Amino acid sequence: MEIIDYKSFAADCIEELKVLQSQFSEKFDVTHANWFYNQATGLLTFSSDNTELNFKYFEVGSFSPKSETWMWSWHNDYTLENVKETARQIKDFGARVNFAKLTEGYFPSDEFEAWEFAAIATKLTNGIGVYRPVNDDGLQIFLVLTEFIDNQLARRIKNKYIQCGTHAYGRIAFVCQHLNFTTKVGFEESFETFEGMELSDDDDFQAWCDDCEAVRVAEDGWNDKAMEFVKIKVVCEGCYFKMKELNLGTK
Ligand SMILES: [Zn+2]
Ligand SMILES: [Zn+2]
Repeated sequence: MEIIDYKSFAADCIEELKVLQSQFSEKFDVTHANWFYNQATGLLTFSSDNTELNFKYFEVGSFSPKSETWMWSWHNDYTLENVKETARQIKDFGARVNFAKLTEGYFPSDEFEAWEFAAIATKLTNGIGVYRPVNDDGLQIFLVLTEFIDNQLARRIKNKYIQCGTHAYGRIAFVCQHLNFTTKVGFEESFETFEGMELSDDDDFQAWCDDCEAVRVAEDGWNDKAMEFVKIKVVCEGCYFKMKELNLGTK
């Protein structure tokens, strides 16, 4: 087992983070920008008058000054898998070197320690900086930025998502007009899917019912007549897999 002293390791990480933070602010001016982060896309966006800067991020955890407690993101049920998966690397590291603070989900803490956790997370994941939004309740959320995303790519990522009444915000999926949440109508797909899977740029979640499949076969493919019968609806990924589960019994 690796033997490291937590205090000196954390102090080193803090020093390294200070360097990263000053490099970051030299490169990107976000001091007067509005910020917005989205768990579904995993993007942190800074916007001012006519510029927008986007970064890939993951959430390290949050510090509550009210309760003086720290919670790792992987312990937080309100944080989406998408933005907390990477934080498990810190937990795994903590287990290897026996640092209890990196492996316990929730405990009394202070703001300085929270910065140490963020610094350790940055070091272990090769982050490019830390951003700490404070929400309306005063909760401090520590985000590690991992990558700058140019505006074109950011637009492409954001366009793949849709607002949903049930699931708040999810990836776009396409279903035929007949698929629904209450009646089984069959569930055909062009490729094997599962919820949360990575999709390549040209792939979409697409499903249609047994009737649509019969028309597709009769028409020998997706011609205008078949498409007219399908009448594609756009739903979110969560809704898509709810329909899949209803029809096939699995997600
Ligand atoms: Zn259909
Ligand atoms: Zn939905």
